[in-house]
Amino acid sequence: MVGMSRDPLHTVTLPLLVNADDENTANGECAVFPSRGGETLVKVQAVSPEIAKGWLERDTRSTLARALKGLGRLRHAYTEKDDRKLLAAVDQCRPLMPKLPLGMTQTEDWTGEGKWDGARWYYAEAMSHAAKNARLVVWWPFSGQHEPTPGLYCPDMSTAVAMALFMDGVRVCPFCGETFIPKLGKARTYCKSAHGVADRTARSRDKTKRAEALIRANSDLSVPKLIEKLAEAGIKRARDWVVKAKARVKAQKR
Ligand SMILES: [Zn+2]
Repeated sequence: MVGMSRDPLHTVTLPLLVNADDENTANGECAVFPSRGGETLVKVQAVSPEIAKGWLERDTRSTLARALKGLGRLRHAYTEKDDRKLLAAVDQCRPLMPKLPLGMTQTEDWTGEGKWDGARWYYAEAMSHAAKNARLVVWWPFSGQHEPTPGLYCPDMSTAVAMALFMDGVRVCPFCGETFIPKLGKARTYCKSAHGVADRTARSRDKTKRAEALIRANSDLSVPKLIEKLAEAGIKRARDWVVKAKARVKAQKR
């Protein structure tokens, strides 16, 4: 079985279904049960990655489309621990966050290492909220054997697009913010490889700047304390940075 070697938490492959516009676009039929009671039989269309991508790109000024793209960027920011992109991504998907009860305020702290737990939580909450109306159905596809098949019924396209982003049918390039469809079985993160190179270069440049600024500002600290300080700021291989910086200062003194 293909799914066996994969992480069981990330093997959602259910087709995403929305109401079909007309007979021609319908791929099948299913019964939905409105909360007010009763049952409705609806013609449904399966949302392909191309359809989800098209919806995200159709209206670039749409707050909802922009916020959904933010989900893609936020996931990248926290998996890659990319400080530069975190705050922008959080702000971009803010419209997807549930409204707080009246009189309640939320404090956010996007500093220190705790911010990555915060980012994961924020992503999960925004994604859950965006996809809250999706429901598991058993539908009858018009093609094949017409066998009852599980699917995710989404009452609107934004719900389907949120699920498509979550299920990796469509992705958001962390460098340019454009959407793209990853090829099957390929772990592609960027819309084109040039954007991967450009992004990694920018990240490494940024990291150098931050590490050097921290070392300069804390030159009175002992080496172990300085390493600790850099590590706290999320700079990997802090030891190498400190050793390099100290060597440079020594060379300048000569
Ligand atoms: Zn790109």
